[in-house]
Amino acid sequence: MASCLFCAIARGEVPCDQVYADEEFLAFRDIAPQAPTHVLIIPRRHIPSLTELQESDVPLMGRFNLLAARLASDLGLAAGGYRCVVNCGEDACQSVPHLHLHLLGGRRLGWPPG
Ligand code: AMP
Repeated sequence: MASCLFCAIARGEVPCDQVYADEEFLAFRDIAPQAPTHVLIIPRRHIPSLTELQESDVPLMGRFNLLAARLASDLGLAAGGYRCVVNCGEDACQSVPHLHLHLLGGRRLGWPPG
């Protein structure tokens, strides 16, 4: 999608601090980290949010979640614990309308979230 920031990052038109890339997904460090480790995982394909997921996206979302768990391990978060957040829509303060998973860790995370 031409006007989407994360599509532009996926195309390499906007720089990012990349931690992982394959033909389907990209992971990069959040520009405003909320924890010592704060990585965003996106599908390269433009999906605005969880709300727009289709039945046909089930395999992709399985791989998406497996990648989150794998990156958490690779980044040293698995032993201490980590949080995966997917903000969806206005009340959740989703600011970039391209599906992304926040992978957060490296400190004790409070609950409930704000
Ligand atoms: P959300 O509020 O859930 O839509 O999350 C969007 C996230 O994207 C925020 O945590 C922002 O800090 C992050 N962000 C915005 N622009 C960039 C960028 N150019 N590179 C990396 N992260 C970004």
